Amino acid sequence: MIIENVYVAPVAGPELESGYIRIEGDRIAEVAPGPAPDAPGVPRIDGTGCLATPGLVNTHHHLYQWASQGLAQDATLFEWLVALYPVWAAMDAEVVEGAATAGLGWLALSGCTTTSDHHYVFPQGRGDLLAAEIAAARRIGLRFHPARGSMDRGESQGGLPPDAVVEKLDDILSATAEAVDAYHDPSFSSMLRVAVAPCSPFSASAELMTESAALARDKGVRLHTHLAETLDEEEHCREQFGLRPVDYMAKLGWLGPDVWFAHAVHLSDDDIGTLAATGTGTAHCPSSNGRLGAGIARVSEMLRRGAHVGLGVDGSASSELTPLAGEMRQALLFQRARYGPDALTARQALELATLGGARNLGRQHELGSLEPGKLADLALWRVDGPYTAAVADPVCALVFGPTPPLARVLVGGRTVVADGELRTVPQDEAGRAGARAHRRLTELAERRGITAPKEIHRDH
Ligand SMILES: [Zn+2]
Repeated sequence: MIIENVYVAPVAGPELESGYIRIEGDRIAEVAPGPAPDAPGVPRIDGTGCLATPGLVNTHHHLYQWASQGLAQDATLFEWLVALYPVWAAMDAEVVEGAATAGLGWLALSGCTTTSDHHYVFPQGRGDLLAAEIAAARRIGLRFHPARGSMDRGESQGGLPPDAVVEKLDDILSATAEAVDAYHDPSFSSMLRVAVAPCSPFSASAELMTESAALARDKGVRLHTHLAETLDEEEHCREQFGLRPVDYMAKLGWLGPDVWFAHAVHLSDDDIGTLAATGTGTAHCPSSNGRLGAGIARVSEMLRRGAHVGLGVDGSASSELTPLAGEMRQALLFQRARYGPDALTARQALELATLGGARNLGRQHELGSLEPGKLADLALWRVDGPYTAAVADPVCALVFGPTPPLARVLVGGRTVVADGELRTVPQDEAGRAGARAHRRLTELAERRGITAPKEIHRDH
C-alpha cells in the first residue's frame, strides 16, 4: 500500500510537506519526500489535505469504567473510588466485553492504534473478565496491552477498598501468571502483550507489590501501577509506610525501565531525578487529573530532565468520554497554564502521544514513529476541512484545535477506521454495546441494593 501526497509528521526525523509512505505487509518500507513511484497493482491512498502521524498509543485506561460514567461527579479520587467500588463489584464478563468494545472503538476513532488497559477488579464467580476484554480488542483490531491488575489490601488491612472487592495474594499471583502464559506474545508484530499491575499503594500490600515485580521479571513482562496521583495518596503513604510514594516504590524494587506509573502528579525534584535516572516511565492523564481535581503533573520538567512520559486517557469513569487525541491538547494547555507558553510545544505533545507511549510499553523499536522497519500503525488526519484549512501548520491544527476527522487509521497496515468510521465492527453496534454494559452494571448493582451517587454531598 502507498499513501501519497501527504504531510508526514514522523515524530522521529524531519517532517515532509508532501511525501509518501510505502507499506509492505505489516511494516513501513519507506517514508520519502516527493511524488510516490509507480508501483503497478499496489493499492494507493491519496493523502492530499491530510497529515500522517504515527498511530497514538494509550498507556493508561480502565475500559470497564465505560459502564459507570457520570457518577460521583464532584468527588475526590478517594471519595469517587469508595462510591464506585461496590458498583464495580457487581460487574461480570458481559459488562466488561460491552464496555471494552465501546471503549476500544472510541479510542480507534481518536487515532489510537495501541492501548493498554489496567483491569484490577476481579469479583469471584463473574466469568473470565480478562478474556472478555481481550475478545473485544481482537474484534476492534487495536494492539492491546492488558495489565492484569489486582488488589489485596482491603479496609481491614488499612487499605481503601472494601474487603469484598479484593483478592487473596496467592490467587492473584497464580491468575496473573496464567494470564501471561495464556496471552503474552513477545514477538515484534505482537497484537497482545500482558503486564503485571497491582492497583495502587493504597489497595495493594507491599508483599503483593514485591511478589508481582518478581513474577513480571521472571516472565519478562512489564510492571504498571498508579502512583502519586493525589495528595491524599501521599498522606496515606507517609502514615502507613513512613515514605513518600516514589521512595516507597524504590524500597519495593519498583523502579526501572520495565516499569511505568499512571499519573505521577505529585513529584518532588528528587522524585523526577529518580524516575529519569532509572528509566521509569509515566502515563500522564490530564483530563482525569482535571476531572478529579488531582493536580497538574510536572511534565515539562520531567521531559527536560530526561524522564519518559506518555499519555493515558484513564478510565472513562474519571475522564468521561475523553478521546486520546484530545489529551495532546489537554496536556499542552495544562503545562502552559502552569509554566507559561513555551512549556510544551505541539510537537512535544504529539511525541508524548506516540513515541512516549511506545516507550512506556517497551515498544519504542516497533511503534511510535513513522520509520522504515517499524510497524505500519498510523493515523491520517484530514486537515483540509473548512475550518482547519485556515491553519497552515497541520501539527498545530491537530494539537491546538478540536480533533480533525480521520481519513484512515491503520494497525499493522490493516484498516481499522476509514473516512471517520470504524470499519472492523459496525460503529453503532460498538456504541450500543457500551450502553448495554452500563444498563447491565446498573441493574446488577441495584439487585445488591447499590446505587452509586451522581454527586457526593458534603457538609460545607
Ligand atoms: Zn487509573
